[in-house]
Amino acid sequence: MGEKMYAYRCTACGKLHHPKHYVCKKCGNRTFEKIPLEGDAKLLTYTKVYNLPEGYMKPYLYFGVAEFKNGLKVTGQLEVGNPVIGMKLISTVGVVKESVNKNCCGFIFKEAK
Ligand SMILES: [Zn+2]
Repeated sequence: MGEKMYAYRCTACGKLHHPKHYVCKKCGNRTFEKIPLEGDAKLLTYTKVYNLPEGYMKPYLYFGVAEFKNGLKVTGQLEVGNPVIGMKLISTVGVVKESVNKNCCGFIFKEAK
């Protein structure tokens, strides 16, 4: 199976965090419950990025901010032909190339059918 991304829910106040924080941004608590971050999301905004690092085989990519049903907003790569703000997305996790020698695991959003 592929990688998963997680949100970290404060065990005291319930605030969700992503990426991981060690101290709750809302109440200062230091214990978190790990919950999988996956499924449907909604596109809030996006940008088209040119000048990609070496290793990308495309002239440009879309990056977007998507909101999960639990209200958490994350950034990720969009694998969508024609992004429209408010469109439904399905989140997947994959390798996102950050630079020539650095691959990292991140969200890749696809169009929900
Ligand atoms: Zn808290």
